[in-house]
Amino acid sequence: MTKIVSRAALAASLLLAICARAAAAQMQTPDFMAPPYLPPDSSAITAIRAGWLVDVEAGKVLRDQMIVVRGDKIVSVERAPGHVPTGAKVIDLSRYTVTPGLIDCHTHLIGGETNADFLLPLERSAAQETLDGVVHARRTLLAGFTTVRDVGTFRAYLDVALRDYINSGLVMGPRMAVAGAYITVSTGGGEVTGQATDVVLPPEMRLGVANSATEVRQRVREILNHGTDLIKIIATGAVLAAGTKPGVQEYSEEEIHAAVTEAAKYGARVAAHAHGAAGINAAVRAGVASIEHGSLLDDESVRLMKEHGTYLVSDLIDGEYIRQVGKAQGWPAEILRKSEEVAKLKHVGLRKAVAGGVKMAFGTDAGVYPNGENAQQFPLLIQYGGMTPMQVLQSATINAATLIGWQDRVGSIAAGKSADLVAVEGDGLADVGKFAHVAFVMKTGTVYKAP
Ligand SMILES: [Zn+2]
Repeated sequence: MTKIVSRAALAASLLLAICARAAAAQMQTPDFMAPPYLPPDSSAITAIRAGWLVDVEAGKVLRDQMIVVRGDKIVSVERAPGHVPTGAKVIDLSRYTVTPGLIDCHTHLIGGETNADFLLPLERSAAQETLDGVVHARRTLLAGFTTVRDVGTFRAYLDVALRDYINSGLVMGPRMAVAGAYITVSTGGGEVTGQATDVVLPPEMRLGVANSATEVRQRVREILNHGTDLIKIIATGAVLAAGTKPGVQEYSEEEIHAAVTEAAKYGARVAAHAHGAAGINAAVRAGVASIEHGSLLDDESVRLMKEHGTYLVSDLIDGEYIRQVGKAQGWPAEILRKSEEVAKLKHVGLRKAVAGGVKMAFGTDAGVYPNGENAQQFPLLIQYGGMTPMQVLQSATINAATLIGWQDRVGSIAAGKSADLVAVEGDGLADVGKFAHVAFVMKTGTVYKAP
């Protein structure tokens, strides 16, 4: 009897504790966290005082500025105190460095985060993969990344759905440019790998498989007709695909050129995954907009990339992450070996590209490491690539916006552009590591995070 009573009492107290926690959580959730995440009405005016303002287009830092936002757009930038319009809500960031909303050109928001298991995509449903995407999108935005170029998902088009839900205001996340699927040779760097040779993959996981220039064109048309923004082609083997060799070129220049010309008919650009120099150089000659990874690039790559105006999207944080956790988490030995092999050479190639004046766009391969930690790559670009703090911020703002083709709407703090702003405490250029913990995030005029 006593036991039953005490058990009931325990249940009651547990219930009380749960209710109290739920109430506290509700109280802590500010109004702006409540969906839908739509921009404020077009007449709402906000005046933001910035202690330091990074003018990424001029490559200069301006002191004591006033940014005026109306609705979802920036309307003016002037020296503080300036003219504060009547009825404006004032946000004081005079002790903060304000930059344009950050942009990551190489994310994978959809799907589980660990690559400890080659078969993970087969162990999870499309619903789970998409819901992961919802969680990752929220984390990415709150980390200050207001725009991403999402470069592929194993299950085709889950990224299209996520992008559309974010745009509708029902899901919180960055504005996304999406690739829909991977254009890859069979058993190549963009395939789901690691299963037995007699296991047949579901069609949605092999939508981008193409083994000739003709097939590449077919796949490009199909992917762009399904509402994607860009094409991702896997030009060489990959670190994270079992059996494939990062140094091996998987598509010929002619096949990559077929993707570029077909995509161009839609006004879309091609991002090429390429580790080995032969694959990099073929992709650049074929006219891709960016080389992703670029691990083993050589002097000829630097020359060609400058000649063609090709961007390098060099991911460093994922290699560091794999080195730190890979062994402990039991990642496949093949990944650990390939990651280690390319990491050191990638640092050499990156330094060469930076010194040679190749255009740089920030990209991290988010999803290989936990989404939302994107800015932890800022100091690594200085350490391994020899970039300046201003170059790092430019790569993650105006350069990234230009690579995506959205430089008219995002990428700098200028009148007419979307009100996408991020702030860190103190002088952000003196320590770009601060961007790993941004204090303020505004996207399209809505404040998602404030000091
Ligand atoms: Zn990737």
